Amino acid sequence: MGRLDGKVALISGGARGQGATEAKLFVREGAKVVFGDVLDAEGRKVEEEIRAAGGEATYVHLDVTQEEQWRAAVDTAVQRYGKLNVLVNNAGILLRKSIEDTTVEEWDRIMAVNLKGVFLGTKAAIPAMRRAGGGSIINISSTAGLVGSPGGTSAYIATKGGVRLFTKATAIQHAKDNIRCNSVHPGPIATDMIRDTLEDPELWAQRLRRLPMGRAGTTEDVAYGVLFLASDESSYMTGSELVIDGGTTAE
Ligand code: NAD
Repeated sequence: MGRLDGKVALISGGARGQGATEAKLFVREGAKVVFGDVLDAEGRKVEEEIRAAGGEATYVHLDVTQEEQWRAAVDTAVQRYGKLNVLVNNAGILLRKSIEDTTVEEWDRIMAVNLKGVFLGTKAAIPAMRRAGGGSIINISSTAGLVGSPGGTSAYIATKGGVRLFTKATAIQHAKDNIRCNSVHPGPIATDMIRDTLEDPELWAQRLRRLPMGRAGTTEDVAYGVLFLASDESSYMTGSELVIDGGTTAE
């Protein structure tokens, strides 16, 4: 028996990294999955891999900054698989720049992808979840949504802090609809997003000083936490923060 048997999930940013691992894990646990991204070639490859392994998943083009693309993604889930139970707002971009070097355009762009994208996904999913009798929304924030960091990521931190509190607002507003909403706060995870840090011995040595477990997390480390929040195992959790960070914020 799968931990997500009978559920239909929508995952943003699923063409690679954490989102792709979550799509594969959700399918292995019995879910039907629609996942979207702006990287169409990579997304279709993940879809093929899932289908070759006997799973059911559909890749859609989804730029999370575009409201009508979110509506279309939710419609695909409902039309193809009958309903929507789970949304993972995972798509995100990173900007490593000091406040003084960040342009207004860069600030607006990261806000649009990391924060407006979460708002638009939530807005599009709620009516379908209500019709399904409830649901679970998982917003991927970061340790950067909990504490400041010295890495020159002020705009990124602002988006992830916004995601953390938007999660709690969603949880409160939709508890009576039986829609739960929780945030996940990964530490450094070995994906393309932080490849520059992982491959720069000096930068990585600096990061290790604030990393008690002494290693980067894997995409599976995060995906199993997201799976728990997507499943009914977390049925009394809403508005909470799941930290998966190798001990970074414990110090
Ligand atoms: P990643 O760069 O491999 O994946 C991010 C995905 O989001 C990519 O597939 C990318 O194409 C997609 N994306 C970017 N802009 C988009 C848009 N406008 N519309 C749709 N999709 C878009 O990195 P990842 O580590 O898998 O990141 C997943 C999430 O985890 C992000 O929200 C990120 O901020 C967060 N996070 C990552 C780390 C880390 O160290 N890797 C740590 C904490 C939080």
